Amino acid sequence: MILPGATLGLLGGGQLGRMFAAEAVRMGYRVMVVDPAGDAPAAAHADRHLRTSWDDPEALAALVASTAAITTEFENVPADALRTLATDRPVRPSADAVARCQDRLVEKQFLNGAGAATVRWAPVRGVEDFDAAWEAVGAAPAILKTARLGYDGKGQATVARREELPGAFDRLGRVPMILEERVRLATEISVMVARAADGTTVHWPVGENTHVDGILHTTVVPARVPEPTAVAAAETAVTIATSLDYVGVLGVECFITVEGRLLVNEIAPRPHNSGHWTLDASVTSQFEQQVRALAGLPLGTTDLLRPAAMVNLLGDLWQRGTPHWERALAMPGVRLHLYGKADPRPGRKMGHLTALAARPSDALELALAAWRALTD
Ligand code: ADP
Ligand code: MG
Repeated sequence: MILPGATLGLLGGGQLGRMFAAEAVRMGYRVMVVDPAGDAPAAAHADRHLRTSWDDPEALAALVASTAAITTEFENVPADALRTLATDRPVRPSADAVARCQDRLVEKQFLNGAGAATVRWAPVRGVEDFDAAWEAVGAAPAILKTARLGYDGKGQATVARREELPGAFDRLGRVPMILEERVRLATEISVMVARAADGTTVHWPVGENTHVDGILHTTVVPARVPEPTAVAAAETAVTIATSLDYVGVLGVECFITVEGRLLVNEIAPRPHNSGHWTLDASVTSQFEQQVRALAGLPLGTTDLLRPAAMVNLLGDLWQRGTPHWERALAMPGVRLHLYGKADPRPGRKMGHLTALAARPSDALELALAAWRALTD
């Protein structure tokens, strides 16, 4: 067990790292973060910020020298850096688990192998794969995605017809890609699960998500889906965490198709945007749980305190000046989280609002009303 007072290492300094660090500090830990950005959001809560690349040997040596255990907030940190660190310190989640989430082809193969249903998919590594891939997804409208480094809908293109494949492949940069059947979505849900080093696994109530332009817009808990669907999603998420021999917090994004099929979309080896509501409406937040799993402490209970909804605050909101925070905060049950980012670019995640109410639909309505009030 790594007890409060110790220093925890963090690779990646974005908002997920910021919220991890804030929870770690609340619990009496110190945090050392590695991130190349001078204004990394996590640095505000860190004792030390090493402003360098994630695989800088000096930074890795400093982490080993100064921290008791190391985690990440970002799936694209080099897996080899995690592997190197793991020879000297506990690294949770492991390099292997993170590596499986870094490449959509590897990820889909793993998910299917673990028994999780996904959309039909096929690898597209070059022109020679076009025909076979189109056949494999069923010659239906499809989505082409870069295998690596995509997020918030970036690195994706809709391909309505076979003839559009070459153009899309060119535009996305001729790197290794995955072609996915575009399913018709009834709704999207996600499950946050946490697994301890001893194999104990817990999950939070299932969240219901909406996306706009490929970016998460809202999450509502509990998800307004049939109970058997929520149970099946949670069981699938636990199976995935166990198959990965995962230690830490894992996000599992799922589709529910209009035909009622439950499909796993992708997994994230870290806390997830759709789990931010846990800071306000769960006994244990996903970030506290990441601290607990990393430190080898008992996992916390994941009970829901009250139905909740989260709405993301993107840089677009700043277009006509600073949003009217006071209008949202005047609404009872609304809480504000900002990530300390200076530059509100369109599409950039700047913060989020959480609203608590008696029923999930009321929470969503309140969250959206608060969000609209920011720019009214
Ligand atoms: P990201 O890494 O950017 O989150 P995702 O694969 O999760 O990438 O895609 C973002 C969103 O795009 C999904 O949440 C969903 O709304 C939509 N989407 C992605 N893939 C599919 C698909 N195969 N069929 C239907 N919708 C999809
Ligand atoms: Mg996603």
